[in-house]
Amino acid sequence: MISSALKSVVITVCISAGIAGSLSLTGVSFWPSFFIVSILQIIGWQGFLYMVSVNAALKNKEIDEQMMKDYMSNSAIVPCSNCKQENLTPIQLSETNSFKCTKCNVDNVIYIHIESAQVTTPIKSLNIEDTIKINELK
Ligand SMILES: [Zn+2]
Repeated sequence: MISSALKSVVITVCISAGIAGSLSLTGVSFWPSFFIVSILQIIGWQGFLYMVSVNAALKNKEIDEQMMKDYMSNSAIVPCSNCKQENLTPIQLSETNSFKCTKCNVDNVIYIHIESAQVTTPIKSLNIEDTIKINELK
C-alpha cells in the first residue's frame, strides 16, 4: 500500500519535473509550472478514478437488472404445503425443485404438471346489440 503510494508520488514528481524542465527551456519558471502540472495530474487522476467508478457502478447495475430479470423469468410463486405462505422460488425443468418456506421453514418439493390446449380464435364481436340482432334473426 505504502510502496504503491510512494510509486505514484515518484511518478507524479518525475512527470511534473520533466514537463516543468521542458517549459523552463522556453523561459517559463520551473517551480510554478512544476506545482501546476502536479495539481493538474492529481485532479486528472481523481477525475479518471471517478469516471471508472461511475462506469463500474453502471455496469454492475445493468448486470444486477439482467440477473433479476433472468431470475424472475424462471421463477414462480408457489404456496407452502404446510402453511400456504406464498414463496417466490426458481424453477428449473432439468432438476428436482425444492424450497424452504420463508414463514414456517418447512422444506417443500415442487411437482410440475404440464398440460397442452388447442389455440382457439376469439369471438370478434362481443357487442351486445349485434348479439341481440343475431338472436332476433334466428
Ligand atoms: Zn410454510
